[in-house]
Amino acid sequence: MQTKQSWLSIPTDTDFSLFNLPVGVFHTGDHTPRAGMAIGDHIVDLAAAAETGLFGKRRFFTRIFTQPTLNAFIALGKPVTNRIRKKVQDWLSMPEKPENADRILVDRKTATLLMPIQVPNYTDFYSSIEHATNVGKMFRPDNPLLPNWRWIPVGYHGRASSIVVSGTPIRRPKGQILPPGGAPDIPVYAASRQMDFELEMAFVIGKESPLGEPIPVEKAEEYIFGLVLFNDWSARDIQRWEYVPLGPFLGKNFGSSISPWIVPLEALKPFRVKGPKQTPPPLEYLESKGAKNCNIELEVIVQPAGQTKETRISRSNTKYLYWSMAQQLAHHTVNGCNVQVGDLMASGTISGPTPDSYGSLLELSWGGKNPLKMVDGSTRTFLQDGDTLTIRGWAGKDGQKIGFGEVTGTILPSL
Ligand code: MN
Repeated sequence: MQTKQSWLSIPTDTDFSLFNLPVGVFHTGDHTPRAGMAIGDHIVDLAAAAETGLFGKRRFFTRIFTQPTLNAFIALGKPVTNRIRKKVQDWLSMPEKPENADRILVDRKTATLLMPIQVPNYTDFYSSIEHATNVGKMFRPDNPLLPNWRWIPVGYHGRASSIVVSGTPIRRPKGQILPPGGAPDIPVYAASRQMDFELEMAFVIGKESPLGEPIPVEKAEEYIFGLVLFNDWSARDIQRWEYVPLGPFLGKNFGSSISPWIVPLEALKPFRVKGPKQTPPPLEYLESKGAKNCNIELEVIVQPAGQTKETRISRSNTKYLYWSMAQQLAHHTVNGCNVQVGDLMASGTISGPTPDSYGSLLELSWGGKNPLKMVDGSTRTFLQDGDTLTIRGWAGKDGQKIGFGEVTGTILPSL
């Protein structure tokens, strides 16, 4: 990877190097949303850049970049979105600071980031074999991995309306739970006592498919615009009581959080890796070759209320995922199910092979049996009110990082 120079001062340790240029939607106090690309400590205001004629078709692109979400931009297709990205990269790599720079660049500190897409549909997969095995062990010690798991990228349809952008507080849900030590199978209505996170990544659909037409696995990545960090908040006690026989419902749909910057799949090209060996070999429609996984490092941080110090509770990596994004999408559409621009498909909890790489508190505390120590001396089995949970992710090294920034959220007490 060659080094790129810019007239703009870009911190070497930034997530948002010249190689990255993720897209998002922001405002600067005026509540007028516009599209932007993150670069170092700045944002390239795409609406302002369009107005100066940087992309040609001035009126068209100004309209596209002043929409409240990126759906219309993403729907233009990869030839256009890649061209815009290249234009911005070239503009930032000019030998001298261009005249229009002050009009186009925004200090990132002055910006409020908004939900970058309108999400028509949300699907959550279950693609980490380590996670599926860990959860299985807790509930079914003799038979942790169900027989279908190595054949099917297991998933379910989640709730799109409650997906929120990083920074949005999450209210602890109430619902039916079985109180510990209570009568067997008699629930109470109470606030969840087992608030958890799930360390996930999600991909954003960039191209719609017609109803009735499967997306072949080898074409699947043409339909993927980019990736975000994803926290699939989970109330384990609600989930445990409700999930039989139809799966996750109110233990999940009270909120999921995404990072505000969408990293285009193109930016991750140097960090594509082969996934784990799949045994048995998948059925033909899921067969794929090559580097279909991503090497993205992940970390999870907890900050109790009032604490400035962070406690890192997990380090993981997307490369551990057993089922690739292409396989997930091929499976999702093999029956003819259609996809729409802005659809989010999350990986499922990304747990690694070692206990310090597990992607949920359910696993990290092993069902609440092993409390985790925080830097302030307190302990956690599940999240407490006031706790802030942050996920960060990045690929590459200083100067060339493809970072995702973070997805963060604070737990509010139940109503
Ligand atoms: Mn999940």
